[in-house]
Amino acid sequence: MDYPGNIFVVAAPSGAGKSSLVKALMELDTAVQPSVSHTTRPPRGQEKHGREYFFVPHGEFDAMVAGGAFIEWAHVHGQRYGTSKKAIEERLAKGADVILEIDFQGATQIRKTFANAVTIFILPPSWEELRSRLERRGEDSAEVIELRLQNAAKEMARANEFDFVIINELFERALFDLKAIVHAQRLRYSAQRRARADTFAALNIP
Ligand code: GDP
Ligand code: ADP
Ligand code: 5GP
Repeated sequence: MDYPGNIFVVAAPSGAGKSSLVKALMELDTAVQPSVSHTTRPPRGQEKHGREYFFVPHGEFDAMVAGGAFIEWAHVHGQRYGTSKKAIEERLAKGADVILEIDFQGATQIRKTFANAVTIFILPPSWEELRSRLERRGEDSAEVIELRLQNAAKEMARANEFDFVIINELFERALFDLKAIVHAQRLRYSAQRRARADTFAALNIP
């Protein structure tokens, strides 16, 4: 499929700072839009249906799977999460860059469908810091935090499959790195050729 926008896939163990970084990027760069996933997990305190996620009951998720509504979906931390076709195709078709915050299983699926997707893995600076961020965030029970830490080891073992790695130690530095990756994709020959077609034509570049 040839879309004008770029697809960015960001994966990380829970608590590495993925949502904070993506949110900060989107505040600075409105041409990057989120893919809003569907999930069976309950909303956390401030989360709003349709903003962070579409929160759906298992039955509705099953129906979407059966109806082929998802580009990818996966079991993560005992829940199911999925990216709907609708969540990204409309945005890409308008020329926006779309950013997906999904787990590594989803990233593998996306790579198969969109060979040009740019994949980014966010690492925490240490185990101690990962644990303390999950605890400080204060959104998950002790049991859920333990499950997320166990899964973190499995997820981080797959970081080598990604195009880019960002270590989120100093937040501002990690945000700078994320911006640099997005910016560099927009300077690719094919992207410049599309975005600046008039300039290429005026310069007689085919
Ligand atoms: P929420 O899920 O909307 O509450 O967002 P988060 O808890 O993920 O982060 C809240 C905000 O704090 C985000 O907009 C981030 O930009 C910002 N933030 C998170 N961590 C840091 C940090 O270590 N340094 C700085 N400067 N900002 C941060
Ligand atoms: P994820 O989306 O990967 O699960 P979050 O973005 O929710 O992670 O971040 C987990 C917690 O760590 C949040 O409370 C966030 O404010 C905090 N955090 C994110 N980046 C940093 C950082 N560089 N330094 C310290 N705390 C951070
Ligand atoms: P959280 O519950 O902390 O928001 O997310 C838990 C995990 O689910 C994270 O690793 C996140 O990347 C993953 N996730 C969120 N949305 C999707 C999705 O649409 N597809 C897949 N495969 N994983 C997702």
